[in-house]
Amino acid sequence: MEAIENVYGAVCEGGKSVVITFHQKPDADAMGSGLALWHYLKLLGNWGTVISPTNWATYLNWMPGCLEVLDYEAKTAEAQSKIAEADFIFCLDFNTLSRIKKMEEPLRAAKAQLVLIDHHEQPETAAFAYGISDSKKSSTAEMVYDFIIRSGGAAQINEPMAECLYAGAMTDTGSFRFPSTTASVHSMIADLKEKGLNHHLIHENLFDTFLENRLRFFGHVLLNRLEVIYELNTALIWVNRQDLNKYDIQTGDTEGLVNYPLSIQGIKLAAICIDRDEERKWSFRSKGEVDVNLFARKHFEGGGHRNAAGGRSSASLEDTVAFFKKAIWDLKDQLAEY
Ligand code: 5GP
Ligand code: MN
Repeated sequence: MEAIENVYGAVCEGGKSVVITFHQKPDADAMGSGLALWHYLKLLGNWGTVISPTNWATYLNWMPGCLEVLDYEAKTAEAQSKIAEADFIFCLDFNTLSRIKKMEEPLRAAKAQLVLIDHHEQPETAAFAYGISDSKKSSTAEMVYDFIIRSGGAAQINEPMAECLYAGAMTDTGSFRFPSTTASVHSMIADLKEKGLNHHLIHENLFDTFLENRLRFFGHVLLNRLEVIYELNTALIWVNRQDLNKYDIQTGDTEGLVNYPLSIQGIKLAAICIDRDEERKWSFRSKGEVDVNLFARKHFEGGGHRNAAGGRSSASLEDTVAFFKKAIWDLKDQLAEY
């Protein structure tokens, strides 16, 4: 993988066909960084399409450009022809092509050069012609901001781009709370504010647009589906198919739920397992030295960051939860306080 700087020249001269994609079930960082880059590359005279590997949560739809994003699963033929004709395919906020599900094959077969911009650990660099991977970065949005600035685009940053970048950086830093929130993150936000950003509207758009059923679902889950394993300072939530159906839970509605158990005094590891149709999907969060990236890679075919990772299992909900309860003993030296 060549340094990202080597692609600036080609995209800055314009006239290129570009596809931008990100991980399946995109969160605000994936969608926000993708759309900000899309706006920028178009301003430079390129034409491009943002393609999501799967559908996404409706709470992202306010983002400028979001309604023009192609859902690969819903519009496969159209998306495939965009991928086939692209000169460059930008891959944002994921480290291995398996994170884009059914898009993996068409991307590997495409004539386009793949460009990685990502902050997850252990990237599959061999798959990319150009790129930057930096696990110290707060968010892919911050990396897209750096891309824009370093390629000479400071003056191009407009309000729609600022809104998308803010949404990504703010959510991936837990509202500027995680250790990844460096001085550079705050400098970027100051710059976006100077460019006209109304940050309070973004918080409202992201956090205050849910339906009543989602809040009641959270109440049900925290009351009835939370298990605290004090000897290992671990808290676990599992959600079965009936829970999802009863409260009409849609993509994105479970976002943020995994953070609640971490607010219990002493808890160092929080996990949530959701019984999706195709797989049991795990999310892990931790504090300090507890490395959930390694844990997810080892036991749940997953990965991510040291303190926030995800994974999956094909086993039943009951079996994968039982397996989790055994697997955490691997981490007992980091979790337990003797
Ligand atoms: P979340 O729990 O919010 O879905 O994901 C937490 C972090 O782990 C995110 O950075 C996400 O990209 C990453 N992640 C989630 N699921 C997986 C997975 O199955 N595989 C890998 N490699 N990373 C994941
Ligand atoms: Mn991210």
